[in-house]
Amino acid sequence: MPQTKFILQENDIPTHWYNIVADMPNPPAPVLGPDGKPIGPEALAPIFPMSLIMQEVSGERWIPIPEPVREAYRLYRPSPLFRAHRLEAALGTPAKIYYKYEGISPAGSHKVNTSIPQAYYNKEAGIKRIATETGAGQWGSSMALAGHMFGLEVRVYMVKVSYEQKPFRRSMMHTWGAEVFASPSMETQSGRAALAADPNNPGSLGLAISEAVEDAAHRADTNYALGSVLNHVLLHQTVIGLEAKKQFELAGDYPDMIFAPCGGGSNFGGAAFPFFADKACGRDVRLVAVEPSSCPTLTRGKYAYDFGDTAKLTPMLKMFTLGHDFMPPGIHAGGLRYHGASALVSQLYHEKLIEAVAVPQIATFQAGVTFARAEGIIPAPESNHAIAACIDEALRCKASGEPKTLFFNLSGHGHFDMAAYDKYFSGQLEDFAYPEDALQESLANLPKVEA
Ligand SMILES: *Cc1c(COP(=O)(O)O)cnc(C)c1O
Repeated sequence: MPQTKFILQENDIPTHWYNIVADMPNPPAPVLGPDGKPIGPEALAPIFPMSLIMQEVSGERWIPIPEPVREAYRLYRPSPLFRAHRLEAALGTPAKIYYKYEGISPAGSHKVNTSIPQAYYNKEAGIKRIATETGAGQWGSSMALAGHMFGLEVRVYMVKVSYEQKPFRRSMMHTWGAEVFASPSMETQSGRAALAADPNNPGSLGLAISEAVEDAAHRADTNYALGSVLNHVLLHQTVIGLEAKKQFELAGDYPDMIFAPCGGGSNFGGAAFPFFADKACGRDVRLVAVEPSSCPTLTRGKYAYDFGDTAKLTPMLKMFTLGHDFMPPGIHAGGLRYHGASALVSQLYHEKLIEAVAVPQIATFQAGVTFARAEGIIPAPESNHAIAACIDEALRCKASGEPKTLFFNLSGHGHFDMAAYDKYFSGQLEDFAYPEDALQESLANLPKVEA
């Protein structure tokens, strides 16, 4: 019988995270403050613990995972690597397809891989409370769970439209003991100002970030936590790729191409970066970030300094960006609607060391349904992007007869997104390619900095 699941034991959970900075040909571009000058670690100290700030700027290849974090990872890690025999048969491809399934975490996505260490380091630093934001709710629920594990209070500012439309993710956060406010809220100055201007403001991720950062900056017992984009978040996510490398050894195989959905870049970095270590030593492996055509940060954005949020409260990062006032359309992959991309992913893409493709929404659901019917698991709409790009490659292999080994990261399950699947089945989904003039308009508002 050909093997379907490649399973590791709990003592195979990595002991160190992999820091790609050690293998990048050029050092990361500096982070800039409001005056356009590089900032030092102390500038971030009001909202992050020093341990995470040091990870943010570290050049060490291996960073030890604290034992209490590995212990918490044991609740759901190692995650399985599957060989998609049934999908291969359904496609009639000679390609071998593998996927790593991160939907086995209690919150249903890879985000718990970083919420756990973030909660741990904040607790160690004497912090009592975390303020954070969430869009569709995947990050908020992951932070709620991890906060409770380490005895931290968690306050989540949830974008108001999602708060109203996705009540079950809110219920998950409550179950794990977090406080959840619809953003804009009356709890912060930014929220009150937004409500004074428009009592019906539906909220946005940018505004929710402003509320959470303001909350954290104003209370000594409170820090802020971010679920993607930052270097330390991608670092924590490398448990995915490190486990996958061991699992490929068990399978006696190695990927030619790796695909992952890319919003802020954390699950892509997590799955792909550990393989970059081999690429840096001359091994031939292609790393492909897959994004929505409606929020095409890498494929149509500009590589420039920009703010992380709409209100310009964050430092400036050099990244591919669509502009901090870019308004992504209401597509169903909520986790992929961010205007920027991780600085590390951006720099690697700029230096042509990784690749990116954009996929339209309807094609991603087609791919997700093909996958679900073959393999059983119903993927998150975000994950469907990687599946679509992987299936496209598998079909190219079918045409050419090439038996490539393909690997994608199944970043989460879609159990809270069935309304989006219903829309797909009833023909109500639309493809939306962002108009060039609207894009140019938001890019015109990029901050003017030299570099
Ligand atoms: C948040 C999320 C993403 C996108 O975020 P990244 O930081 O780019 O990984 C992808 N898939 C799932 C399931 C998510 O919850």
